[in-house]
Amino acid sequence: MKEKIFSQDKPQSEEFAILRSKMVEHLMSHYHIQDERVLRVMQQVPRELFVPEALKSQAYKDNALPIAAGQTISQPYIVAKMTELLQIEPNYRVLEIGTGSGYQTAILASLARSVYSIERVPQLAEEAEKRLRSLGFLNVVIRCGDGTLGWEIYAPFDAIIVTAGSPKIPEPLLSQLKIGGKMILPVGFEKQAQRLIRITRTQVDFTYEDFGACAFVPLIGEHGWK
Ligand code: SAM
Repeated sequence: MKEKIFSQDKPQSEEFAILRSKMVEHLMSHYHIQDERVLRVMQQVPRELFVPEALKSQAYKDNALPIAAGQTISQPYIVAKMTELLQIEPNYRVLEIGTGSGYQTAILASLARSVYSIERVPQLAEEAEKRLRSLGFLNVVIRCGDGTLGWEIYAPFDAIIVTAGSPKIPEPLLSQLKIGGKMILPVGFEKQAQRLIRITRTQVDFTYEDFGACAFVPLIGEHGWK
């Protein structure tokens, strides 16, 4: 974990740190998140800096919140759960589809060597890039485009995370996963309701595990929703 300096107005940042501790406590006691590395970075990354100014006071609520362009910053639980399921090691190169606010990107970048993140909406990609730079994340590369195609020049990846719901598993992402690598994504034929699926690439094939119901905004692209 790299040390980051998150400078803010001191009294306000102390209040947010208390709310952050409560969030982490809830992740452990209510949602049974156990990976200490994940819990530690969730304690460190200032979620209030990733939500719109008017919603800062709600940053640590147990739900998703709206961001620009009709999109959402995911619920803290789902961020923690997906990160835990990826079992990220410090030397990992991670591909993220759906940068959104950049909050999940920051969590991943605190655990992995590098994160390559693709966002479809130009405004979100630009804002997330600025935000992550200003927070000192130098191991993140963001681009605007259709993430269902993956990012061939940086492939293969140790881990892939898709943070929008797809009717099917995008084929290019499967082929850009390393042998032994894991991918986590929401899959379902309803636009707002999916199953959280983890895929592991073995020497010869892929294995699939279902981690229950979830609800994400749609993954729009060539290998997602049209
Ligand atoms: N993890 C993000 C965060 O912490 O703020 C939230 C991501 S939001 C639930 C899903 C994002 O996926 C949206 O920003 C949306 O624009 C993006 N998206 C949808 N389809 C995409 C695609 N084909 N390629 C890249 N991004 C896509």
